[in-house]
Amino acid sequence: MARDERGVTPRSEDFSSWYNELVTKAQLVERGPAKGTMVIRPYGYRIWELLQAELDHRIKETGHENAYFPLFIPDSYVKREAEHIDGFSPELAVVTHAGGKELDEPLVVRPTSETVIGEMMARWVSSYRDLPLLLNQWANVVRWELRPRMFLRTTEFLWQEGHTAHADEADAMRETRQMLDVYTEVARDIAAIPVVPGEKTPGERFAGAVRTFSIEGMMGDGKALQAGTSHYMGTNFARAFDIRYSTDAGELELCHTTSWGMSTRMIGGVIMTHGDDKGLVLPPKLAPYQVVIVPIARAGQAEPVLTAVRELAARLKAAGVRTHVDDRPQTPGFKFNEWELRGVPLRLEIGPRDLAAGTALLARRLGDEGKTPVALDAVPEVVVTELERFQRFLLRRAVDFRESRTSTVDSWQEFTEAVATGWASTPHCGRPDCEAEIKAATSATPRCVPVEAPGESGGCVRCGEPSAYGRRVLFGRAY
Ligand SMILES: [Zn+2]
Repeated sequence: MARDERGVTPRSEDFSSWYNELVTKAQLVERGPAKGTMVIRPYGYRIWELLQAELDHRIKETGHENAYFPLFIPDSYVKREAEHIDGFSPELAVVTHAGGKELDEPLVVRPTSETVIGEMMARWVSSYRDLPLLLNQWANVVRWELRPRMFLRTTEFLWQEGHTAHADEADAMRETRQMLDVYTEVARDIAAIPVVPGEKTPGERFAGAVRTFSIEGMMGDGKALQAGTSHYMGTNFARAFDIRYSTDAGELELCHTTSWGMSTRMIGGVIMTHGDDKGLVLPPKLAPYQVVIVPIARAGQAEPVLTAVRELAARLKAAGVRTHVDDRPQTPGFKFNEWELRGVPLRLEIGPRDLAAGTALLARRLGDEGKTPVALDAVPEVVVTELERFQRFLLRRAVDFRESRTSTVDSWQEFTEAVATGWASTPHCGRPDCEAEIKAATSATPRCVPVEAPGESGGCVRCGEPSAYGRRVLFGRAY
């Protein structure tokens, strides 16, 4: 069948067109009327809610509390931390008029909330007994995008941003690393994306941070996606906003702060890690529908089939499986194609013949195992097992793919070959101008210095100067 209105350009043919067509045709998003904005449709929003629930649970388990801070931030706040304003100014949206007149002080639409939360922390912290202060907020933020891409770069996006204040560097660093671990776990165990946690090189640090850590996932085209970041701010924001506490001995000290965030970008990561020529492939833990049941019945035979299908759906729901019955009037073939495109992990088909045999036909979104008849009584148990297997399979497949596209290299020739299709693990001098040269020559940037990499010296793959990090740096082209 030719590419019709429902199908997408195969991923193997053109990754970028595939992605752009798929996000719309799978009914995840629509472009918003204002440039760079996105409308998240119910199917896409449900994926976000499932991810959000998993992450929110872990944020609370690690002792943080949710709060909410204002969308508008006084211009003067954002300017108070010098590096922060330098990093963000080109992306800021600023309100200059409101209430029918020009404002005395412009208001920035938050690109992130370090400044306003810093101001509040200064009010809420006075003694060492108030520390650590562990806050998180779920919110939208605005960063003006000149080249928007749904989920990956949009002018407005949804995220959580954690902000914490601590008595000293050791406690703040423990927090920074703990949240990096939480992100790594959510990406791996929920989204089935085997990310690499690591530290950003100085040139890639967050504006105003002393140390920035990230998780990096390899997408299906070999490019990297930064899927979450965790920053140690040192005392930079504490100094700018006067966040101080009195010690046990009565001395006044600056707090050490952190911030960390994960966003709707993760949905783009799920699409680009697991999707294939036919469309989306959703990990069961993030699938709005884990199984879709398609009744197959001609007119006159429909009633007993529909009764059996509804009864089966109720049993699946009782077993905790997100189940959808597709009883629309379209042909079964139409429905199969649509649910494949939309990435539903499992499909059950039931017709009069299956009903007579007391079975349903189980089809998987991936794998060439064909359709398997399953006894109706056993369906919930089999589906639960198959979903777990599917989740594990996706992670394994993504690990294998990443390993097959990551090369340990020590020469410039090998480096350029490696980053053309994937990642290169290599010694680097750490000089920003050397990073810039590498980027100009290959489009690759340092993704991170993996936290688990063994110590290793060596000469920079580009300039030969000694390695700055005592371990290999991961380079790749990135979204
Ligand atoms: Zn170098």
